[in-house]
Amino acid sequence: FRKASWERVVLAPFLSRLHGTEASAQKEDSRFKGHDMLAPFTAGWQTTDVSPLIIERSEGSYVYDINGRKYLDSLAGLWCTSLGITICTNTNSCSAYIEKFSFSKLVKARLEFVGGNEPRLVEAATKQLNVLPFYHSFWNRTTRPSLELAKELLEMFTARKMGKVFFTNSGSEANDTQVKLVWYYNNALGRPDKKKFIARSKAYHGSTLISASLTGLPAMHQKFDIPAPFVLHTDCPHYWRYHLPGETEEEFSTRLAKNLEDLILKEGPETIAAFIAEPVMGAGGVIPPPATYFEKIQPVLKKYDILFIADEVICAFGRLGTMFGCDKYNIKPDLVSLAKALSSGYMAIGAVLVSPEISDVIHSQSNKLGSFAHGFTYSGHPVSCAVAIETLKIYKERNIVEQVNSISSRFQDGLKAYSDSPIVGEIRGTGLILSTEFADNKSPNDPFPPEWGVGAYFGAECQENGMLVRVAGDTIMMSPPFIISPREVDELISIYGEALKATEERVN
Ligand code: PLP
Repeated sequence: FRKASWERVVLAPFLSRLHGTEASAQKEDSRFKGHDMLAPFTAGWQTTDVSPLIIERSEGSYVYDINGRKYLDSLAGLWCTSLGITICTNTNSCSAYIEKFSFSKLVKARLEFVGGNEPRLVEAATKQLNVLPFYHSFWNRTTRPSLELAKELLEMFTARKMGKVFFTNSGSEANDTQVKLVWYYNNALGRPDKKKFIARSKAYHGSTLISASLTGLPAMHQKFDIPAPFVLHTDCPHYWRYHLPGETEEEFSTRLAKNLEDLILKEGPETIAAFIAEPVMGAGGVIPPPATYFEKIQPVLKKYDILFIADEVICAFGRLGTMFGCDKYNIKPDLVSLAKALSSGYMAIGAVLVSPEISDVIHSQSNKLGSFAHGFTYSGHPVSCAVAIETLKIYKERNIVEQVNSISSRFQDGLKAYSDSPIVGEIRGTGLILSTEFADNKSPNDPFPPEWGVGAYFGAECQENGMLVRVAGDTIMMSPPFIISPREVDELISIYGEALKATEERVN
C-alpha cells in the first residue's frame, strides 16, 4: 500500500500540541487535565491525558477558550446556536443596535461588559427569571410563556395542520416522547401489536435509551445492550455510498422505498407503528435525501397505516433554507420533534408537535384513564419558553429563511469547490449544513485506514488555525450560525482550504 509508511496520527500528542499541554504548565486549562466530569461522547484518555478545550465566552459566530484563543464556531455549538451569539451582524455598530432595540439598562450594561451574546434572548431570560423563574405544567397548571410558545409553534408549522405541542428539555426526550405517544395512541385504538418503529441506518435521534435505539450508529449501541427489540433499521439514503453501478438517484430512491415495503411486509404491517426520519440526516454525516426519496417513502407508509415522525431537531427554523425541513421535501408528518434552534441553544428546550388525529385519541384515552401520565418537571419551563418565543420572533423579524438563503450558496459553493481534492470522496450539503467525507481514490469503497486519523488530523488543523469543526471518523461536519456574515463564510472557507492542503500533504 503506497501509504503504508504513513505514520499514525496519535491524537493525544497532537491535541497536546494544540492546547500546548507541555508548554502550558501555567496555562489555565492545564488545571483541568484529568478533570472530574464523565464527559459526553469523549474517550477516557482524552479527559486524562490532555487538557479539555474550555470555552469561556462567545461573540457572534466565534467562541473564545479559557486562554483567550478565538475560534470560528462552524458547528454553531452542537448545531444549535442559530442566532450565534451576536449583536452586530445586521448593523454596523453595536450602539446602533442597542439604540434600535432599546434594551433595558441591565442588558446594556451587560453588553458593554462582555459584548457578544444576542441581547434580546438574554433580556427575555432575565425578565422571565425576575417574574417567574419556575412553574410546572402538570395537572392543567401552567405558565403564560409555555401557552404562548405552543400557540406560536402551531402557527409556524404549516407543512400540515398540527393539533398540540408537548414540551421536553431536549431532542432525545422529544424522541422518547414520540415512542410513548405512538404506543399510547395504538393502545387506545385497540392495536396492541402495532408497536415497532422503523428508523434508518446512520440516523441520529438522541442518546437516551429509546432515542439511542432509534439512532442508527453502531457506536451508540455497542456495549449499551441496545437497540431495543422493537426498533428496526432500514437503508441509509446515501446515494454516493450505496447506489448500484449505473443507478440514478431516482432509481436509488425507488429501490429504498421497495426495501422499506419489503421490511414492512416481512415484519407484518400490523406490527409496525411508525417510521422516523430526519429531513436531512445530521450527525450521521449530513446526508440530504436523494431525489424523490420522501416522495416515494411516504405512500408506502400511508399504505400500511404507519405514522411518519419528522425529526426536525437540526433542520427546523431555517437551517435548510426553508422554515422546516418538511417544507423543503414536502413531508406531511404525523409527529414532529424540535429542539436546538428553537431557543438558539440558549436554553434547554425541545418540543413535539402532535397531529390533531393523534392528540384527539390521546385526549379521550387520558379521560378514560384519568390522566396522560407522561411529563417532566421542566416540560414547558417558563424561562426556556420565554427565550424560545423571543427566538422565534427574531427569526420572523429578521426573515431568517431569506438570510440563510442569501448566504448559503457562498457557503456551499465555496466549500464544494474543494471537491476535486484527491483525498475528498464527497462534499455534500444544502442550506447551512455540509459535510466532507475523506476517501482514497474518490471512492466510498476506499476509506483511509481509520488508524491514520485523516479526519482527526484535518479537524486539529482547523482548530489550530482558529476554527472548530465536528469530526466523526473521516467525516467533517459544519452547520454555522444562521447569522454568519459573508466575511466569516470566507474565513471559514479559507481555514478549511488551509487544513485540507495540510491534510493532503500529510496523506500523500
Ligand atoms: N435528533 C436529532 C436529529 C439530533 O441531531 C439530535 C442531537 O444532535 C437529537 C435528536 C438529540 O437531541 P439532544 O442532544 O438535545 O437530546
